[in-house]
Amino acid sequence: MTFDTAAALLAATLAGAGLLAGSFLGLVSLRLPAGDPIVAGRSRCGGCGRPLPPWRLIPLLSYLFSRGRCAACGTAIPLRYPLMESACAAIGVWAALSQPSAVAAVITALLGWQLLLIAVVDAEHFWLPDPLTLPLLVTGVAAAAMLDRLPLPDAVAGAAAGFGGLWLLARGYRRVRGREGLGGGDPFLLAAGGAWVGWIGLPSVLLWAALSGLSVIAARILTGRAVSGADRLPFGVFLAVGVWLTWLLGPLGLAR
Ligand SMILES: [Zn+2]
Repeated sequence: MTFDTAAALLAATLAGAGLLAGSFLGLVSLRLPAGDPIVAGRSRCGGCGRPLPPWRLIPLLSYLFSRGRCAACGTAIPLRYPLMESACAAIGVWAALSQPSAVAAVITALLGWQLLLIAVVDAEHFWLPDPLTLPLLVTGVAAAAMLDRLPLPDAVAGAAAGFGGLWLLARGYRRVRGREGLGGGDPFLLAAGGAWVGWIGLPSVLLWAALSGLSVIAARILTGRAVSGADRLPFGVFLAVGVWLTWLLGPLGLAR
């Protein structure tokens, strides 16, 4: 892709949209696991409860200018907000620079933002909530309908195969080992991933997930932390990485 004005404009737009998306997702990643309503009126300081002034809602800049503290009471603003905002902006730029059209770039950014939120919630709570995985599935089918990179039947077959494959695996593991090897939400996440990358992309998703999972285990061993078969890993994080890379790079072993 040549870096012309239109491409630069698209990247800047998706970076800005990413800041806003990240600001919202930072909120969701706290409120959803806590059982709080997602839309709860004006944003308030977590320390003193004062409503935030409008300028404080500007992503990233407000954090930098307030040096990460509430102006009224000095309570630290959770670092997750600027981190989520920066990460979503980066995903927006990545989407803009990697996709052949503006529509594909917007859809790719929407995928990346959803995957990031799912990965954060799973990493922190070992939980893949249906209110996050089901919209990912629906948007995956919608993406197949809007872009001509995956036939719609392949997306639907991908969702079915992703769900069925992990569900069978989880059942088999429980039979053999007598304990849960996968979280209940994992089949839904792989179903959603299958809707995005199609059944033909599922082996690549699992391969990337396994590679990223193994690299985390290797890092734990190298840093001297004990690893046992009973360790829990947030498998959803690795599946999210797998879906993202397969969407960007295409199914492994297939020329695009
Ligand atoms: Zn405060």
